[in-house]
Amino acid sequence: MLLPRFDFHDPASVQEALDLKKTYRENARILAGGTDLLVHLKKDLVSVEHLISVTKIDELLKIEEKGGDITIGACVTMASLAASGLIGEKLPALKQGAQSLGNHLIRNKATIGGNACNASPAGDTLCALLIYDAAVILQNSEGAREVPVSDFFVGPGKSCINDDELLTGFRIAVPPAGSGADYIQLGKRKSSEINVVNVASYIEIDPANQNILNARIALGSVAPTPIRGAKAEQVLAGKTADDTVFFEAAEAARRDDCKPIDDFRGTAGYRQAMIGVLTRRTLAAALAQAQGK
Ligand SMILES: Cc1cc2nc3c(=O)[nH]c(=O)nc-3n(C[C@H](O)[C@H](O)[C@H](O)COP(=O)(O)OP(=O)(O)OC[C@H]3O[C@@H](n4cnc5c(N)ncnc54)[C@H](O)[C@@H]3O)c2cc1C
Repeated sequence: MLLPRFDFHDPASVQEALDLKKTYRENARILAGGTDLLVHLKKDLVSVEHLISVTKIDELLKIEEKGGDITIGACVTMASLAASGLIGEKLPALKQGAQSLGNHLIRNKATIGGNACNASPAGDTLCALLIYDAAVILQNSEGAREVPVSDFFVGPGKSCINDDELLTGFRIAVPPAGSGADYIQLGKRKSSEINVVNVASYIEIDPANQNILNARIALGSVAPTPIRGAKAEQVLAGKTADDTVFFEAAEAARRDDCKPIDDFRGTAGYRQAMIGVLTRRTLAAALAQAQGK
């Protein structure tokens, strides 16, 4: 399988990349780590006349904390996310997602922006972005807009990004004290495998009485896009955090929130059952973290 012919562009700034995107629009594709795009090009699943490589643009490579927010550049790799002390301390479920993706070679190339733009329902960082309520920063040559990550995915492999836009990064509010989060992915092998199901949970409690102040659950590989477990979150709202309420929430996630399909990786029934198990486990781990255990 050979790559098709294309013109390669290597802009040094976001503005230069956006000018190229404006000129070539649907005839151009952004190239980040290439771990999805180059495979798709070789398999002739996509065609392209121009590739715009963005991995040398400094401002897309930064992880920064400022004014209560953490911003993560679109070209930060999985290896850099997993190695970041800031991400490990403040956004542990995102670190877990980055660590779970692919294998060492893939994690050294694969970017968080590419994972989001590839918009797979199984994407390993996407459930974490959902539970941390990330804002996706999209830019064109006229300016920037922010989209809640829950509105970003519109179908399998599809996002709301326009032809003239570049995803430049993500903005996430630093989770408060008394919060915790966890991510678990279940695959058939331990590495280089697309998830059968994946779940992330976030919980914020009142330390005085263990009441749940805020809870968010995200489910992967059980719908056309990664989704929030809205019914499960409703079960948790305002309750005291304990195993009983986590079991009820897990049941709601399993029964009401997910709409899995059968495929060669697993049956719908297996996926649904595992959503219940992983929801419960991630909630328990998130609570332990929130309690400082
Ligand atoms: C062997 C192997 C194992 C894998 N295992 C996993 C896994 O376990 N979990 C998982 O989630 N994924 C896995 N993947 C898929 C892939 O590695 C990830 O989706 C990765 O995060 C894609 O990032 P990238 O930088 O390589 O994107 P690219 O391939 O460069 O781009 C992907 C898509 O996003 C677009 N794009 C990229 N960056 C931007 C941007 N900043 N703005 C606008 N558009 C952009 C590209 O045009 C393209 O359409 C695997 C892939 C391989 C080859």
